[in-house]
Amino acid sequence: MSKVSYDVSNGVAILKMCNPPVNSLSFGLRKDLLAAVEAARADAAVNAIVLIGDANGFCAGADINEFSTGGAAKSPNPHEVHFSIELSEKPIVAAIHGNCMGGGFELAMCCHYRVATEDAKLSLPEVKLGLLPGRGGTQRLPRLVGLEMATNMIVSGEPVAASVLGELGALDQVVPADKLLESALAYAAKVAELRPIPLASSKKVKHPDYEGYLGFMRNSLRPAAASNPAPLKCLDAIRAAVEQAFKAGLETEERIFQELMCTPVSIALRHYFFAEREARHIEGLGDDVKPLSIRSVGIIGAGTMGGGIAMNFLNAGIPVTILELKQEALDKGIQVVRKNYQIQVDKKKLKADKLEARMALLSGTLEYESLSGCDLIIEAVFEDMGVKEKVFRELDRVAKPGAILASNTSNLDVNTIASFTKRPESVLGLHFFSPANVMKLLEIVRGDKTSLQALATAMELAKRIRKVAVVAGVCDGFIGNRMLGPYLMAAAYLVEEGASPQQVDRALERFGFAMGPFRMGDLAGGDIGLAVRKRKVAEDPNFQYPQFLDQVAEMGRYGQKTGKGMYLYQGRNAEADPDIDALLESYRLEMGIEPRAISDDEIISRCLLALANEGAKILEDGIAARASDLDIVYIYGYGFPAYRGGPMHYASSLGLNEVALTLRHIANTARGNRAQWEPARLITTLAEQGKTFSSSSHQ
Ligand code: NAD
Repeated sequence: MSKVSYDVSNGVAILKMCNPPVNSLSFGLRKDLLAAVEAARADAAVNAIVLIGDANGFCAGADINEFSTGGAAKSPNPHEVHFSIELSEKPIVAAIHGNCMGGGFELAMCCHYRVATEDAKLSLPEVKLGLLPGRGGTQRLPRLVGLEMATNMIVSGEPVAASVLGELGALDQVVPADKLLESALAYAAKVAELRPIPLASSKKVKHPDYEGYLGFMRNSLRPAAASNPAPLKCLDAIRAAVEQAFKAGLETEERIFQELMCTPVSIALRHYFFAEREARHIEGLGDDVKPLSIRSVGIIGAGTMGGGIAMNFLNAGIPVTILELKQEALDKGIQVVRKNYQIQVDKKKLKADKLEARMALLSGTLEYESLSGCDLIIEAVFEDMGVKEKVFRELDRVAKPGAILASNTSNLDVNTIASFTKRPESVLGLHFFSPANVMKLLEIVRGDKTSLQALATAMELAKRIRKVAVVAGVCDGFIGNRMLGPYLMAAAYLVEEGASPQQVDRALERFGFAMGPFRMGDLAGGDIGLAVRKRKVAEDPNFQYPQFLDQVAEMGRYGQKTGKGMYLYQGRNAEADPDIDALLESYRLEMGIEPRAISDDEIISRCLLALANEGAKILEDGIAARASDLDIVYIYGYGFPAYRGGPMHYASSLGLNEVALTLRHIANTARGNRAQWEPARLITTLAEQGKTFSSSSHQ
């Protein structure tokens, strides 16, 4: 069946694109669209054409799966479709609603007229993938809206309201959402006989001082070019729109597009784009498994996490009942939620009446019975199995049949937690990250007995509260914190060997991490790190770590909350502390360690490979379905730079053979646990086969 339907109404052909889910311009749609345009051009009963999308919106752009398969170049390519539209001797009106992005907007710009709904979303977001709009976008948009607006849209990738584009003349009419087709048909009838037919490509870009303007933009974009070269490169293509004839400009655009396609940044950003979508697929979870509907939520514990978790549901309009042990703790927890909303109101990010509406959905209780009607109950009490046991036994007693019982534990065994109930199929981990109302990541921990329906419900819920969900199996630390352990150890041993905490943090922050490991430890709390190490030693007497970590924590230097940790704090401002330098100096002396100069490259190599090696072991153990899920966890949960694609993608880009060799070198030279550095079997196997992590996953 054709992906473009063809109807004629009073001499106007209506070409409707239908390529679910978003009308992407795949080969199939291009072929059918070209055929439909050619048919309308040849149809004697037609004197004007309307191009419209079905309920899925106008067109969300290129099918980026085709970038890697080569399908994007297959004839008819987008330019061939564009030229057929542009050269039509009958006027073509684009009728735009919903998403009109990237290649979709480029398609609309080839049409002779554009009618859009007030709520249509028009943008050229290609820079977000490290690219430029490479199908005429950089050439036609400046001709339609002027140099400055076009540059802003192209280098930011952000949408602009239809009303604004209407005022600039890029849209001929902006109409209410329910009047699109009738308005477009009326517009087409009105312009059917008008000649000459206006073409974006034949306009000139006028600006009183384009050199000055582009120079100014270049200076403002340069600092961010290391993390994404695309915006600066866009300026070169836009300059061509001003200086060159249209066809030559298209060639310049194409050359720059091809250059950008090969940059490591664009490759990483495209990987990240697909990885996020891929994470939604869970083996064995088909459309036949229907999620339960969640209309009310209970939360146990109104501490740091409980309050933040509650805000997610309140923001989505879901009522929350929060349970504490004592009235004082309950009042305090609820006050903190109000205070956090008040901060948003003060910053004008939330309207005052919304604050009240959200708070009205929140109630507190000291009685488990009050949770008996909840569809989902999330436990966020102290990280102690004894405490969790008490809570889950109570939940099993009061929760209604079928209610989902979740733990926000960071490390504890979700199977053990499930065993405290008579309904382990309803138990899973919902691991939020701090601050829980801000951080996008949600690790969904699937216990051995967790039902598919509970899992489907958690996935659906994540979407509702706008989290990016990744499913993990049960192991110590799940995905994120399990990988974090060896990473933090790598950082700590580098300090033992001679680096300063500041040097380690600086090197990793320059690499792109939002925060280096020591600043992160100070933020999370030195007491938490100390407790984790104590637990690990109790579980495994061979667990090794540099003892200076304990010395710092045992001095009560817990980080930001005590004003001192590995750094000195003025508020959130971290400064190097001479006391820590002195402590490290005498520690190394005592340990007989001759400090050595360590390069930033070595710091990056060790810390990144510690992440990737543990990630590979996680894959071997079947804790995660695919390497790209680990990348998503690190980008959304641990401040890993998206433009590097995540730790697994980064290791793949180095070449896994190289990774294995470096790991062996570290194993032979680094202090600490040699076994930790032995390359994971998966790495050596893939390296022997010349493969990467992505070729090993179930993608
Ligand atoms: P917290 O100490 O800030 O809060 C815990 C709250 O639970 C306290 O208000 C306490 O009064 C209450 N509580 C304790 N026992 C209770 C019981 N039996 N019944 C009802 N309330 C009880 O701790 P937190 O940082 O919010 O951590 C909670 C959980 O979330 C832990 O399992 C932790 O590992 C996990 N977690 C924490 C973070 C983080 O960064 N803080 C991140 C992810 C997960």
